[in-house]
Amino acid sequence: GPSVVWFRDDLRLADHPALHEALVRGAPIVAVFVLDEESPGVRPLGGASRWWLHNSLRALTSSLADLGVPLVLRRGPAEAIITEVAAATAASAVYWNRRYGGAERDLDTRIKAELRNTGVAAHSFAGSLLFEPWTIQTGQGKPYSVFTPFWRACLAAPLPRDPYPAPTGLDAWPGDLPSDDLQAWTLEPTRPDWAEGLRATWRPGEASAHTRLAEFLQDRLPRYADDRDLPAEDATSGLSPHLRWGEISPYQVWHATRRASESLTGSAAKGAVRFLTELGWREFSYHVLFHAPNLASHNWKPDFDAFPWQPLDEQALHAWQQGRTGFALVDAGMRELWRTGTMHNRVRMVTASFLTKNLLIDWREGERWFWDTLVDADPASNPASWQWVAGSGADAAPYFRIFNPELQFAKFDPHQSYVRANVPEWGTDAYPTPIVDLGETRRAALAAYETVKAAK
Ligand code: FAD
Repeated sequence: GPSVVWFRDDLRLADHPALHEALVRGAPIVAVFVLDEESPGVRPLGGASRWWLHNSLRALTSSLADLGVPLVLRRGPAEAIITEVAAATAASAVYWNRRYGGAERDLDTRIKAELRNTGVAAHSFAGSLLFEPWTIQTGQGKPYSVFTPFWRACLAAPLPRDPYPAPTGLDAWPGDLPSDDLQAWTLEPTRPDWAEGLRATWRPGEASAHTRLAEFLQDRLPRYADDRDLPAEDATSGLSPHLRWGEISPYQVWHATRRASESLTGSAAKGAVRFLTELGWREFSYHVLFHAPNLASHNWKPDFDAFPWQPLDEQALHAWQQGRTGFALVDAGMRELWRTGTMHNRVRMVTASFLTKNLLIDWREGERWFWDTLVDADPASNPASWQWVAGSGADAAPYFRIFNPELQFAKFDPHQSYVRANVPEWGTDAYPTPIVDLGETRRAALAAYETVKAAK
């Protein structure tokens, strides 16, 4: 029977281990994507992610069609759909690349068992991470909770395999399977259509992921170590949503970066090391998620359960979401996020610190807003980073290190270009006055933190 290739967070054809192995097996291919918003524990996608997914699926549909294979789209609980597709095509095997969230792993385990019960083989592969989370362990066989030794252990492990080439031809299963109409999933916003800024900023899909990587390596990698913290510079790769949806694999990024860095020396060579270290933070976030599946809802450090978050001040939360706090760098970041679906990493840290420390609003509120508005909203990196800033996470910044948004502005946007580009009325009477006093709220945050220390 044919091989079913189940596409998930890996919307690409090149370096797709599941597709590659199905090809090696040689039987005809059935390609399927399931929009699963129903299985227990699976987190519904945010708005910006849905927009991205729509466009990424269009791109994948078209590149599969070029190879003569239709992408079958189905909506519903994945367990029922995958077993049904396997039965309807009399498939011999189902292939997929692994996911690492708790609910997703449980689901895959159930599906694997069910398929095997009906005589269908199920094969899963490592495609989204360079280092499978359970393979990296401390000397005591425990998970890592600190980044630096984690990444050192990764670099001492067998280095990432070479990427697989893109298939040049596929043998499509000749039968006919019903497929949903992508448009009918209404993943793209219509009324109101808030995606204009997203369309102007991004081009989802495998081809543009590779263009972005090539341009980054050519033009920006040498300056990366020096400029990556300056939000006004276009100094980083912009690969995060492409990596989130697996339009490009970390193996491809890793090897291309290593090749590009061979000719670099001095601070330019440092850029490559630094860039690969950032990929390491992505790996670390997944390592943490794998060992703490409820990362988006629970403090990684349980002593933070005692933290006295303020009762939710809706007005303050809205001011933060809409970029009207009266703090220029915070507002610039929040408006950049709303308009483009992304925010510079430095500013993500500043806005998150402002919410959790100056407003004393629970990090989960901020995580949820980012989940809804980021095109790179990631099940591991988003909660891990929020907890990192809030102080409750793995290898977190110590709570008492509170960013001062005005000093951060002066230091990282010295020509005010980033703020001006995102907050046109900044410096005029139309700009809001600060909603809080920095000194006072800083003292209140430190006092609140005493409760956590006392609970230890
Ligand atoms: P580059 O500097 O070019 O880095 C290359 C790649 O490394 C990125 O594409 C990303 O995949 C990875 N990476 C870089 N920094 C980190 C990091 N700190 N943690 C994990 N991976 C990293 N990143 C997400 O991908 N999704 C999220 O939902 C997300 N939420 C965040 C929330 C907060 C509060 C903070 C402080 C950071 C968050 N990050 C998240 C991490 C980081 O801000 C983004 O990965 C980065 O800004 C993406 O831009 P880039 O692709 O140009 O990064």
